[in-house]
Amino acid sequence: MCGIVGIRDAGGVSFSIYYALYALQHRGQESAGIATFDGARLHKHKAQGLVAEVFDSTTLESLKGDVGIGHVRYPTTGENRPENYQPFNFVFRDNIISLAHNGNLVNDRTLRDEFECGGQIFCTNTDTELIAKVITDEMRDSGCIEDAVHRCMRVLKGSYSVVMMINGVLYGFRDPLGIKPMCIGKTENGYILASESVAVDALGGKFLRDILPGELVCIDEHGIKSMQIARANRRAHCIFEYIYFARADAVLDGALVYDVRTRIGEKLHEEAPVKADSVCTVPDSGTAYAIGYSHGSGIPFVESLLKNRYMGRTFIMSTQKERERAVRIKLNPIREHLKDKSVVLVDDSIVRGTTSRRIIGTMRDAGAREIHMRIGSPPIKAPCYLGVDMPTREELIASNREEEEVRRRITATSLHHISLEALIDATGMDSECLCTGCITGRYPIPINGEEFIPAKIDFLDGTYQTKLEKFGDGSE
Ligand code: AMP
Repeated sequence: MCGIVGIRDAGGVSFSIYYALYALQHRGQESAGIATFDGARLHKHKAQGLVAEVFDSTTLESLKGDVGIGHVRYPTTGENRPENYQPFNFVFRDNIISLAHNGNLVNDRTLRDEFECGGQIFCTNTDTELIAKVITDEMRDSGCIEDAVHRCMRVLKGSYSVVMMINGVLYGFRDPLGIKPMCIGKTENGYILASESVAVDALGGKFLRDILPGELVCIDEHGIKSMQIARANRRAHCIFEYIYFARADAVLDGALVYDVRTRIGEKLHEEAPVKADSVCTVPDSGTAYAIGYSHGSGIPFVESLLKNRYMGRTFIMSTQKERERAVRIKLNPIREHLKDKSVVLVDDSIVRGTTSRRIIGTMRDAGAREIHMRIGSPPIKAPCYLGVDMPTREELIASNREEEEVRRRITATSLHHISLEALIDATGMDSECLCTGCITGRYPIPINGEEFIPAKIDFLDGTYQTKLEKFGDGSE
């Protein structure tokens, strides 16, 4: 999972990209980068760390130009090495190109072998560089960007939302199943492409719409063009974006994440009511669910765990010991709210089970009498190959355990995960619109011999449906 941004606007874009990346920081904390184009030259800066650590005003002032792209990285492919940070910048036949990617390819090994057999070299071990290779390979033959993106959509298998800048023209495209999110917004004098609508909000822009699966948009000095390159008979929006990854205030593919989560909370109460003194969230990821449970049940919402705001996501820590210590620093119980109380504890998901076990232990130490755990996702049973860092089946606590066994391990008084039906219902979509691979073990594309649901994808050959897109705000 990563966050991507592309902006074209008059008067310089580096500060706007910085604030947009700030709004997307939750999507990746390993590195941050910005590349801008000033009409002749590319300006770039990227480094390890959070957005606020990587950039200062001097750096941002040096990133000149009215068009640029940005990236925050959460690694799924490629190690934490400077050459793997994005945007990925290069020159091909005098074309100055910069590219940033959110997603994960599943045929990267095969593609890399093919390119290497043809004598090509690689500078990174990311799948993003493969996207760049496919693009330039096609540009070499046809010189046409639309053809190059068409080729990407034919040969890349996996998830990819991409922002790309070629000689100052901004492009954005999304894989034919729309696995990773990307939307478009209007800024004062231009447009923004971003992983989540919260980046548009951060700039005071107007959210226009989601980029469609299989769509390519192109933004230049004439305005914006949209081309539908591929059309599939289904979609596969990542369910985990709604469960955990996206910010609650984001609108993703037509659904406000906050509403999805509160609806799930209400449904958790319908599926597993319990008598208790309070409903408590695991902040912040459990909060909208807990509020929904409280609404549905009438049990008061009481904060009983306080989060240290200056602590990052514990999941990112690499060892189990580090993660366990981090959970203790991150969340502190309010003893006065817990002593002798029966509490409904609500969180978004259980993955390895470390967090829940540790939190329940802390709450019991603080005097809680009963802890009824309610979870906003069904049991996570299978790994994600499409961009979420979901561990192997062996590490997933629910992969081969029944709910009762998981309850025993995390030491909850009772445990209930939302049903898949209720989860899908809460998104307002139907199951053919979502990728639920981590829950069902059935993926929207063939991966490593795993079970999959075949999709039919039509490619629009020859001339593309190119039109100036009307966005209903007077702009063309
Ligand atoms: P655990 O069960 O200890 O592995 O941790 C699960 C918690 O980590 C969940 O409640 C989420 O809040 C968070 N989480 C789940 N999946 C991820 C992920 N892929 N990356 C970062 N955090 C995650």
